[in-house]
Amino acid sequence: MIYVDNAATTKICQAAKKEITDLLDFCGNASSSHHMGIIASQKIRAARKTVKELIGASENDNLIFTSGGSEANNQALHIASLTGKKRIIISSIEHSSVFNTAFNLENHGFEIKTVGVDKNGIVNLDELKSLINNDTAIVSIMAVNNEIGTVQPLKEIGALCKEKGVIFHTDAVAAIGHLNIDVNKMNVGMLSLSAHKFGGMQGVGALYIREDISARPLIFGGAQENKLRAGTENLIGIASLSAALKDACTHLDERKEYVSKLSKSLSDRLLKLQNVILNGGNRSDGIINVTFKGISAEAMLLHLDGKGICASTGAACNSNDKAPSRVLKALGISDEDALSSMRFSLSHENTEEEIGYIAKTVESFCKTI
Ligand SMILES: *Cc1c(COP(=O)(O)O)cnc(C)c1O
Repeated sequence: MIYVDNAATTKICQAAKKEITDLLDFCGNASSSHHMGIIASQKIRAARKTVKELIGASENDNLIFTSGGSEANNQALHIASLTGKKRIIISSIEHSSVFNTAFNLENHGFEIKTVGVDKNGIVNLDELKSLINNDTAIVSIMAVNNEIGTVQPLKEIGALCKEKGVIFHTDAVAAIGHLNIDVNKMNVGMLSLSAHKFGGMQGVGALYIREDISARPLIFGGAQENKLRAGTENLIGIASLSAALKDACTHLDERKEYVSKLSKSLSDRLLKLQNVILNGGNRSDGIINVTFKGISAEAMLLHLDGKGICASTGAACNSNDKAPSRVLKALGISDEDALSSMRFSLSHENTEEEIGYIAKTVESFCKTI
């Protein structure tokens, strides 16, 4: 099996696997006062410290463990909705957990503005600047797009939000563990991340909230997570998240270089075919989105699956939905071309041989059409 759908989820890394297996025999609730409870709460505290350090957070900033990236994004917008301000600015290519959450708030009296992107998928900074007014609660722009891989100019966006006194939230789920992210240097007020996109378990993530932002819970109940997220902590998940992030950050540069090489060899091969277009610019190394003009991506996906290759037509959350990708359309791509687009998302676990096999399989499929 050749797995090139790492933007949907990644394999659990060895470091995370060790934490998980060690904890399977452990029993303790972090809220219990006995020594097993204390061990659990110490493990969570250590994980929080590790993750904060790895994203450049300061000691007094909040970092709340959540059930994943979607919950973290929901909480970030919920926090913004309680500031008293009514305008929410997002980009036109946000993940559905930001996009649909923002538009749900529209039903509750909020004004949603979407900032457009150019043909490479990069947000228009002048338009963003003109959209920020005194009533703006938040600017939420993702770090890396999960469908096309575009990396946004976070530092510039952060500087602009700082200058305007507006909270900047970034959905960094597709970026963390793959690119160097520093919340302080980038003036990020809130940041979402998810363990299963960098070698941790599914169902666990985190929301970073800078000290000066009034943090509020989305889920009410007990006093866990500094009263910001009720419910018994996902101890195994949290331990896996911290171990995986540490592993990903330790090997970040070497893996980035390796994945970039693999990625270039795959895109070079695919672009040699007729009527193939690479979508998006300024891309994170692992994500390649290509349009095979005149070919149904759904048919290619099924063909590749039959040949043992796991790829994608776009966002995993939307793959049951046969509509053309909203993200590709935002780049100015036609419905027809959007339905002819495939995503290959690579990881350091892939090999040159696999890339050669994928390219050959795609080439022969294109010839049969
Ligand atoms: C996967 C993903 C999410 C959702 O994270 P979950 O942990 O699966 O809820 C949000 N944003 C982006 C960019 C993603 O790639």
